[in-house]
Amino acid sequence: MAAKDLDVLSMSPEELETSVAEIGEPRFRGRQLFEWLWQHGATSYDDITVWPKTLRASMAPRLPLKRLVAEKVQQAQDGTTKLLLRLDDGNRVETVLLPHPYGYSVCVSSQVGCNMGCHFCASGILGKRRNLTAGEMLDQVRYANQILGKRGQKVSRVDLMGIGEPLDNYDAMVKFLLLLHHPLGFQLSYRHVTVSTSGLVPAIYRLADEGMPVTLAVSLHAPTDALRLTLMPVNKAYPLSQLIGACLYYGETTGRRVTFEYLMLDGVNDSLENARELVNLVHDFSCHVNLIPWNRVEEHPFKPSPMARVRQFQQLVQDRGISCTIRKELGQEIDAACGQLRRREEEILR
Ligand code: SF4
Repeated sequence: MAAKDLDVLSMSPEELETSVAEIGEPRFRGRQLFEWLWQHGATSYDDITVWPKTLRASMAPRLPLKRLVAEKVQQAQDGTTKLLLRLDDGNRVETVLLPHPYGYSVCVSSQVGCNMGCHFCASGILGKRRNLTAGEMLDQVRYANQILGKRGQKVSRVDLMGIGEPLDNYDAMVKFLLLLHHPLGFQLSYRHVTVSTSGLVPAIYRLADEGMPVTLAVSLHAPTDALRLTLMPVNKAYPLSQLIGACLYYGETTGRRVTFEYLMLDGVNDSLENARELVNLVHDFSCHVNLIPWNRVEEHPFKPSPMARVRQFQQLVQDRGISCTIRKELGQEIDAACGQLRRREEEILR
C-alpha cells in the first residue's frame, strides 16, 4: 500500500515508526507523531511544534491525516453534548459527552449504522454501512477532549455504547482499546472503559481472554427468550442460556462485574413478574442491573414505563440482593435516542 493510503490514525507507535522510516524520516518521528496525535490532540502536522517547519510542511502529502470533522454540535444545559462527526468518506457518526459527578464520559460509535436490528433502536433503521477503524473510534475521544479542554476538563471514561455493535467489529475494537490504553496516548485504564454488546456470545468469550479487563455491558432488555426474541433478533442465534454462560465466564476470567442494561418499555417488559424472571436469570453471579427509561423513537411503537413502575421494578430486584440502578436521563432537550441525530441528517440529505 502506498504511504499516502495508510490509515495513520489506527497505527501503534511501532507501526508509525516503520511507516515514517519508509518515507525516509528517522524512526523516532513515528513515536513523536503518535504522542502528538493522541496526547496533545494535534489536528494537523502544523500543530507538532517540536518538528522543524520544513518537516511539518512535507508530511501531509506523504502521510495524510484523516481527522474527523464536526458537522453539528448540540449542547444541553446540563453539559451533555452531542456531536455529529463526518468521516473521510462522507459517512457520519454520533458521539456523546455525558457529565457525571466524577467527570465526563464519552459514548463512542463503533460502526456506521448497525445490522443487529434491535426493534427499539434508531441506529438499526438504516442498517450497517461499514465498520469504523480503530483510528476513527480514537478520534471521537480526541474530539471529545478538544471540547472538554475548553471547559478545563478531559474524558474520564469511554463507553463503546454509541451506534453499532462493537463486537461485530472485533479486530478494530481491540486495537482501539489497546491504543486508548497506550502509555504514549490517552493512557486510559481498561477499568475506565465499557464495551456494550447485544449479546454476541463467541466474541464475549474471546474478549474475556484478551487480558483487557474492560467492563462488559450486555443489552438484556428481557428476562425470557420468548420476550427477548420479540425485541432483539440476536437472541435467535444466541439464546439467554448461552448468553448468561458467556457472561459468567467473562466475570470469572476478568474479575469484572458484568452490567445488564434493561430498557423499561411500558407494558412490554416492565411488570413485577418480569422483575422476578430477571432475578432468576442473573442471581447466580455478581452483576449489576441498569434500568434505562425509554426515549421515544418516532418509528417505534413503544412507550416509556411510568417512573413509579420503574422504581417498583428496581426495588424488587434490589430486595433480592442484586445491585440495581435507574439511569439518570441527561441532555433532555437534545436527547433523541442514540442514532437519531445521524438518521435525521441522512433523511434531510436524501
Ligand atoms: S441497540 Fe445497539 S446493537 Fe441493537 S441495533 Fe441499536 S446500535 Fe445495534
